[in-house]
Formats: sequence, C-alpha cells, structure tokens
Amino acid sequence: MNKAPRGTRDLLPGEIEKWHYMEKTAREVSEIYGYQEIRTPIFEHTELFLRGIGDTTDVVQKEMYTFKDRGGRSVTLRPEGTAGVVRAYLENHLNNQPQPVKLYYLGPMFRYDRPQAGRMRQFHQLGIEAFGSSDPVLDTEVICYTYDFFTKLGLKDLQVEVNSVGCPECRSFYGKALKEFMDQHRDSLCENCRDRLDRNPLRVLDCKEQGCQELLKGAPGIHAYLCAGCREHFQQLQSYLQLTGVPFEINEQLVRGLDYYTQTVFEVSPKGTGEGSLAGGGRYSNLVETCGGPSIPGIGVAIGLERVLLALEHQGVGLPLERREGIFIATAGDDDSGQLDREAVRLLLELRRSDYPAEKDLVGRSLKAQMKQASRIGARYVVILGLDEIKEGTVTLRDMAKGEQISLLRGKLFEYLKVM
Ligand SMILES: [Zn+2]
Ligand SMILES: [Zn+2]
Repeated sequence: MNKAPRGTRDLLPGEIEKWHYMEKTAREVSEIYGYQEIRTPIFEHTELFLRGIGDTTDVVQKEMYTFKDRGGRSVTLRPEGTAGVVRAYLENHLNNQPQPVKLYYLGPMFRYDRPQAGRMRQFHQLGIEAFGSSDPVLDTEVICYTYDFFTKLGLKDLQVEVNSVGCPECRSFYGKALKEFMDQHRDSLCENCRDRLDRNPLRVLDCKEQGCQELLKGAPGIHAYLCAGCREHFQQLQSYLQLTGVPFEINEQLVRGLDYYTQTVFEVSPKGTGEGSLAGGGRYSNLVETCGGPSIPGIGVAIGLERVLLALEHQGVGLPLERREGIFIATAGDDDSGQLDREAVRLLLELRRSDYPAEKDLVGRSLKAQMKQASRIGARYVVILGLDEIKEGTVTLRDMAKGEQISLLRGKLFEYLKVM
C-alpha cells in the first residue's frame, strides 16, 4: 500500500476541526488588525527565492524542493511566504495603492528538512506582510498581532524576543568586527561556520553547535554598531512595545535565518521549553528592491501552525470546538412499496434545505442499529418514521439528550425544531 511521503501527513476529521478553528481565529485577528488575504501560487520561479531569500541561507542551499517543469523551467515549491507576496505586490502594482498595503496568507510551505515533532516537509504557515511604511508603530503592530493570535488561541507563557540587526551599512561594520573576532577562534568553529564566516559572518549567530554557541558568548554584539537611524528606530519600537503590554525581551544574538531582514527582528516561543519558536519575523527594507521593484520597506511575520498546535497540546489548552448537532431520520418496519424510504428521503432533503444537518441510514441497518448510529454521530434528535405514522400524518421525535420521545403532527415538526 502507498504511504504519504516522509514529512507529510493527512489531516483527518477529528483533527481538522482544530485547523478550522486556528484558521478562523487567524482571519478574525487579521481583520481586526486590517490585513487582507492574499493567495499566491504554491510554486514560483526558482530565481525568486534565490534573489529574495538569499543564496547563502540554509533554506536556499539545502531545503528547497526545486525541479524542472516539462517546459524546462526551474520552479520551486515555496519554502516561505514572503518572497511570493513581494512578487505579487509588485506584479499587481499594489505599490501604487495608498500605503501601507497590509496582507495575510495562510497555506502550505515546503522544505526538505529532517522531519520531527512540529517540523514537517509540508508545513503550514499563517503570515502577514505590510508594505510602504518604516514607522516603528508598524513593527509594534506586527509583533502585537502575533502575540494576540497566540493569546486568543489560549497559549500562555510566551517569550517574545526582539532585536535590531541594523541596516546594510551598520551591518557591514558589524560583520567585519564579527569576522575579525571569529577569525581569531577559527579552529574552534564548526566546519559549517568556517565556511559561513567567509560568505556571511552573521550566519554564524544562527549556529546550533555547542562549540560555536560557546564562542559567541564572547563575541561582539550588534548594538554597538547600529547607526543613529537604526538605533533611534529600535528605541522607538521598544517604547511602543511597552505601551502594548506585550512582555518582550531584547536578545542581541537574534538574527533569524534569512538574509533579508533589516532593523527589527523578533521571535515568539513557549517559555522555557526549548521547543523552538512558533513565529518569527522582521523588517525588510530592501527586499522589494531586490525583487526588482522600487525602494519600498516591508515587515512581516510567519507563524508555524503545526508548532502552534503542538504548543497548545503541551500546555493542555483545549480549543472550543463546536459542532452543530443534527437530526437523524430512522425508519421502522418493512415496506416493500418503498413509500417509507421515499418519505424519509423527502424529509431528509427538506431538513437540509432548512439548514438542519441531517442524515439517514444508507446501509440497511435495523431500527436498533439506526438508533446506535444516530448517537454515534452525535445527533440531537431522531425522527422515527413508520408506515402507521405516515398514514396518520405524524412522526415520532426522540430527544437524544433527554432520552424522551414524543409523537407530533408531521406539519408541526419544523415548528418544534425551530426552538432547537
Ligand atoms: Zn543602520
Ligand atoms: Zn557553527
């Protein structure tokens, strides 16, 4: 028998309701914050990601699903949402609309990664992107959005880490200082980092290897290298964040794994679990330009929905999943004429078209088995039809919650159900 590819999974009834709830919450929070949905293609030209994400990142070097289509073009399943949204923003001339343009997306992303809890090769993200403003109020808004989405779902004990990675100017000074420091300790670095040091020294800050982590404790921090503009922006962000009541801390080593960030970067993770972040984002002042557009700043966040579900589970948070209770139509007794069955079908359709969830037996169950099935699917009422009832123009209505049943005129059935 065929199995789903490694790193992918099926979402079945019983679990999908949680996804619906998360997605509904995402749409609500987005609406409240003034973000509108955008849906971009699942695959893009590979070049977009090479340019947009940066070809020294792990994502581009090791994790992309890239292939040639039948026309010989190189395409890539989107490993993240931002590059595609930036392309769509430019291609559809949204930069000509009043700014900021604020968009959200929900959907699957693809990375060839080692699968583990909360990390899939096909995973799902909620993300927002806002274009056309450098105001630190917007940075604050994006962090607040993320925090509010989580708290609305019921997550507690969140750690919000914030940093500024400066602009290309201040970062190049910092990169030099970091490289100088690291060069003195080259032998203690992992092989990967020795390589990173020459291409993009800041990437070393991302390294998870113990040796490199140790070394980083003594390394110069970026804050001393921030230019006046970046320092001012970071100060303002902090003072606005204080207004919001979002509990945040500054982590000078936080750089995020993508090259395009400038100034604000942030991550949100469950406190003290070592589980990794649920969300990460930041400002990108040059990405739109890098993707072939004018110089327009942007900022965004991406939230890993598998990880959010996992965190909810670990915190023992049950989502308030509600399911409408329906009506089951049971038939009693034999009827060779088929009249009973036709009446049941008629009632079934009538109920559904009056917006009641309704079911009837389709596999020839006995009355007893039909009642069992009704309770299995959580029906609130069972309408029992028999030939005698049809003759009399009545139905038997069984209240499954109370375990009581009454007989009533067929014509009164809907009146009675209305109070449901
Ligand atoms: Zn700067
Ligand atoms: Zn390393």
